[in-house]
Amino acid sequence: MVGLDNGGTCNNATVLDATGQFLVDHLVENPSLVTEGPESAVESLAEAFENIIELTSTPRTLVRAVGLDTPGPASATGVISSKGGTNFGHVSWHGYDIRGALESRIGLPVIYNNDANAAALYAHHRHFGADAMTRSSVSAIVGTGLGGGVVENGRVIGGAAGMAGELGHVQIPLHDVLEDDQPVPACNCGFEGDVESIASLTAIKNNLLPYWLKRFPEHPLAAEPLAKAAKKLRAYGEKEDPLAMAVFGQQAKAIGKLFTIAANFTDPGAYLLGGGVVEAAPRFRQWFLNTVREHTQLRQEQQAVASFALVADLDMAGARGAAVAALERVNAG
Ligand SMILES: [Zn+2]
Repeated sequence: MVGLDNGGTCNNATVLDATGQFLVDHLVENPSLVTEGPESAVESLAEAFENIIELTSTPRTLVRAVGLDTPGPASATGVISSKGGTNFGHVSWHGYDIRGALESRIGLPVIYNNDANAAALYAHHRHFGADAMTRSSVSAIVGTGLGGGVVENGRVIGGAAGMAGELGHVQIPLHDVLEDDQPVPACNCGFEGDVESIASLTAIKNNLLPYWLKRFPEHPLAAEPLAKAAKKLRAYGEKEDPLAMAVFGQQAKAIGKLFTIAANFTDPGAYLLGGGVVEAAPRFRQWFLNTVREHTQLRQEQQAVASFALVADLDMAGARGAAVAALERVNAG
């Protein structure tokens, strides 16, 4: 299997062999050219495919399928939204079937997932290893937005329209998350008080820092533009700065509320957490995970069987998850 992760600036490629081993342990990137429109981008994906099979000395005849993931919004079969998307601004992307186009271009079956679902699938398989196909999980990945996915018996739940697992836009109860005088945060999607409106880099910039900087007017970050300050906040968290701890504490609580909903929805065996926070210093990331766990209300029976974990290596998760999805589809016939 080949896995191709299509991003705003780069594609990343990997190869998964029939025994479940990845043949590369690092990023193998080429420019994705998505801003030049679909034709250049599909050509660039085909190039990524040729490069990776050459690099790993994989005979083309042995490649049974290709997994592809892109950022959304896109349908379950890889048709980009009719309104385009952040990475697909060019009008020729609107309603474009990127999966079908790549399949015709390289002459192999292409299996599509959105990037958050591919990452969740990889997180699940990495966490459970050999038991992955009999287990379930929910993954929350904190980045610019809040991505993730729901996995049941080793397969990601796609949904009728390909929109299952949009965990960032699940609205959560806000009591014990927000301060009494804190405005209800808004998300880019139009909702108020959803997970992404609190637990994302965008939320730090738009919602959390503007509030908390008023409570800490002397803080050094008050002198910085918000976008820059938002990116610097994690380093303050690692030093247990009170402002940073307040912001990240709210994020962890919000994710705990989300996981509480998950507990009553699919009752997963693992609650997985990834993204920028996992790349942070060990003490800080452990504190974050513990805070998420403290705010996830599980029943006793659930506590006995569920695990909470951080998932690393997520920079390769898209390509790897896409390859895992392709392998599953082939195995399922
Ligand atoms: Zn939202």
